[in-house]
Amino acid sequence: MSEKYDVIVVGAGPAGVTTAYLTAKAGLKTILFERGDHPGAKNVMGGVLYRKPTEDVIANFWKEAPLERHVIEQNLWILDKNSVVKAGYRTKAQDQEPYNAFTVFRSRFDRWFAQKAVEAGALLITETVVEDLIWDNHFVVGVKTGRPQGDVYGSVVVLAEGVNSMLTQKAGLQKDGLNTAQLAVAVKEVIALDKEKIESRFNLEEGQGATIELVGDATMGMMGTAFIYTNTDSLSVGVGALLSQVVRQKINPNELLEHLKNHPIVRPLLEGGETKEYLGHLIPEGGYNAIPKVYTNGVVVVGDAAQFVNGIHREGSNMAMISGKLAAETIIDAHKIGEFDERALSHYQKKLSNSFIIKDLKKYQNASGFFETNDHIFSLYPSLLNKAAEEFTTVDNVPKREKQRRIMELVTSERSKLEILRDIYRGWRVMG
Ligand SMILES: Cc1cc2nc3c(=O)[nH]c(=O)nc-3n(C[C@H](O)[C@H](O)[C@H](O)COP(=O)(O)OP(=O)(O)OC[C@H]3O[C@@H](n4cnc5c(N)ncnc54)[C@H](O)[C@@H]3O)c2cc1C
Repeated sequence: MSEKYDVIVVGAGPAGVTTAYLTAKAGLKTILFERGDHPGAKNVMGGVLYRKPTEDVIANFWKEAPLERHVIEQNLWILDKNSVVKAGYRTKAQDQEPYNAFTVFRSRFDRWFAQKAVEAGALLITETVVEDLIWDNHFVVGVKTGRPQGDVYGSVVVLAEGVNSMLTQKAGLQKDGLNTAQLAVAVKEVIALDKEKIESRFNLEEGQGATIELVGDATMGMMGTAFIYTNTDSLSVGVGALLSQVVRQKINPNELLEHLKNHPIVRPLLEGGETKEYLGHLIPEGGYNAIPKVYTNGVVVVGDAAQFVNGIHREGSNMAMISGKLAAETIIDAHKIGEFDERALSHYQKKLSNSFIIKDLKKYQNASGFFETNDHIFSLYPSLLNKAAEEFTTVDNVPKREKQRRIMELVTSERSKLEILRDIYRGWRVMG
């Protein structure tokens, strides 16, 4: 395999497939490496896939892609030990074509998506690990694969390797690696459940889907979220928390998931279901401050490998695809002038800076640090909110003004007014 390609893509997740699809479609000789036995085999997502960014790559994809349900309702549940405060949004507008978002299984979706890249002309090589980069005079000129005579040369290498960004580190772009405060660990089960039960429990009609994100007791008060998403005839149920907190509190992620599944508010939703699959994965949560340099001579970095995840809004696949698209546009332009040095590839950085990706990650750049160092936000406040709701909803002949006083007393017995005001101010600063 010592042929020369225009584009070498490492990793057939949404980021890599997007770049491979678009560069192949533009007539560039593209090769796409995937270590799994098929694209998606090793990939984990909750997973909600968004229509707009996906359609920016493949028009009308939703008419033929393997999707589960279109999402019409999104919920946030703030859990305490035996209770929940709920917020949600349901709309008929997202119940119509072309829809807003879908639940998916990555093993099916990625396979379909990669096939589109193959149809566009990309060569897909599975069961192959790219082990290293080939350098020539400070320029990356190819990759070393785990196959015999597996060196492959190309004008540009696209690192779409996901969160375990070994090659991005080898390229010298992520010098310090990642620490446990920049990673979340997530586990997920796919629980088979009758379609009719899903529809009655979640108040859905055929094809409609709902999502629930859960905080508070769902993560045992750690910084993170849990989720329950409806598929056609199964539920995706998972939980993720910051790795540094999981390590500090010595809680096994599996314990977290069992705790969630057995929560008295959650259990009835899952009743009668049968676990079909168990998956675990890391999520890059370092945000803006952890973004590596995303280009060098002969290299660009896309998707999770570049830390493009917005955990607050449950966005990752969209950032993977749009960064993959911006990288493809840059490569196509670079190909026209035959230059793949830092200067030519720096246009990718400019495109990213003008996109929602960098703008959004910059907006939340201090959020992760704030939540990590203020444990009580995910533990104390959900509990207080539930207790306040309990007081508020209990009809017991107590005048409402007295109830307000009791709620205030309850809240300030745990945290002073000054501390609460400071939390609100700081929260507003990092999220606003
Ligand atoms: C539990 C969980 C829930 C999530 N939920 C959502 C959600 O609901 N919505 C959302 O938008 N995002 C979600 N995300 C985030 C989303 O999954 C990622 O942001 C997205 O998958 C990133 O895509 P990617 O292509 O950059 O990386 P990946 O999808 O990780 O793909 C990387 C690919 O590269 C391959 N690879 C890696 N190294 C090599 C190598 N050396 N050689 C060959 N192949 C290699 C891997 O096998 C893999 O196929 C979730 C993530 C997790 C873990």
